[in-house]
Amino acid sequence: MTTFTTAHWQDLSRRHLLAPFTDYRQLNEKGARIITRAEGVHLWDSEGQRILDGMAGLWCVNVGYGREELVEAASRQMRELPYYNLFFQTAHPPALELAKTIAELAPEGMNHVFFTGSGSEANDTVLRLVRHYWATKGQPEKRVVIGRWNGYHGSTMAGASLGGMAAMHEQGGLLPDIVHIPQPYWFGEGGEMSPEAFGVWAADQLEQKILEVGEERVAAFIAEPIQGAGGVIVPPESYWPRVRQILDKYDILFIADEVICGFGRTGEWFGSQYYGNAPDLMPIAKGLTSGYVPMGGVVVRDEVVRVLDEGGEFYHGFTYSGHPVAAAVALENIRILRDEGIVDRVRNATAPYLQKRWAELADHPLVGETRGVGMVAALELVRDKKTRTRYEGGAGMLCREHCFRNGLVMRAVGDTMIIAPPLVITPESIDELVTLARLSLDQTHAVLRQRG
Ligand SMILES: *Cc1c(COP(=O)(O)O)cnc(C)c1O
Repeated sequence: MTTFTTAHWQDLSRRHLLAPFTDYRQLNEKGARIITRAEGVHLWDSEGQRILDGMAGLWCVNVGYGREELVEAASRQMRELPYYNLFFQTAHPPALELAKTIAELAPEGMNHVFFTGSGSEANDTVLRLVRHYWATKGQPEKRVVIGRWNGYHGSTMAGASLGGMAAMHEQGGLLPDIVHIPQPYWFGEGGEMSPEAFGVWAADQLEQKILEVGEERVAAFIAEPIQGAGGVIVPPESYWPRVRQILDKYDILFIADEVICGFGRTGEWFGSQYYGNAPDLMPIAKGLTSGYVPMGGVVVRDEVVRVLDEGGEFYHGFTYSGHPVAAAVALENIRILRDEGIVDRVRNATAPYLQKRWAELADHPLVGETRGVGMVAALELVRDKKTRTRYEGGAGMLCREHCFRNGLVMRAVGDTMIIAPPLVITPESIDELVTLARLSLDQTHAVLRQRG
């Protein structure tokens, strides 16, 4: 086999690839980093550098890389039945067994799953599904969905519209009848308020918006239990209980986007169980298959299903809804998570250890706050800890570059550094992660101070 050089791959990238979420001019100047293989919690690039994957790919490789059982589950299923669909009153064993298994893990009373190929498709599905639900109940004017600024729900038209990323709205526009409220991001937006007071304020924005739009027009509220792509925003403790009170007061559906929080990330199977906030619909993806193959879905509460049962045909679905190979991999992935006690180990051992070690970084002169839940965490890069003021000119990007050079994937969201490692990360690898993060913070700080 020929071993190609990094330059060869970078040349192909420039000539033929339009990468997602990428500034093309910038990438062409720099050249893509080529990842060639992975094992456990580590990646290797085409230069032979070993990199600790602090992001589990894109928040998805929950059981880690190199799990032979998943490879076998896929190949077994490909031999038996590589493809069939769930349209036109047919089904197949892998999709049915997976739906049953997800129902066992999901919050009480959520027993049905609509399968999709991704998280974005899951959110397109919820938008169409909740409108169909209200129309079936004879209230077709209930069409408005309330999302949150800086929430992330994918990048199809519905996903981008439900999400609150202003830069995404500017490109390609926004679907009608979707509105947004402020996020519960105390460090960035809490001002002089205490975190608890700010959490209540942010929750009350939901009620304000419901009253402004009119309850009779609001179909649903969509939110991530913990915002991921927005910068690992862990709401103040006062937030979710207050939101739950507001949701109980009005006749609207609650969509908890579990694409990141689902399948063990918080130390519970779902983020909604961690917060106890009883959703009606849960979009899922990412950790469902640990990213080995693409798959998503929407878990739906029984009361909602009862209405859909009366709604005639739901004109919605994807060629790959419940794809048998993806379903077989998801089933095996969940078996691994269960049989190896991975979610329990996260809750009782590795997440407390990660959070303890991560919190030690708060003493670094560049760090204004550390926060996290389970196997997801963030830290804020600041010039002044007290006033929470930032450096000019991209401290986050600079820190990310240093991390990569030191052999650690840590993502930057503005000047917020975030991690979400594979759930199987060991205490030894957590130590490695924190050591590399501190080294990278030191180097970043030195450069920023030199700049003045
Ligand atoms: C990643 C993500 C999505 C989109 O999932 P894709 O599979 O990339 O389409 C939706 N919601 C949340 C919370 C996500 O993190």
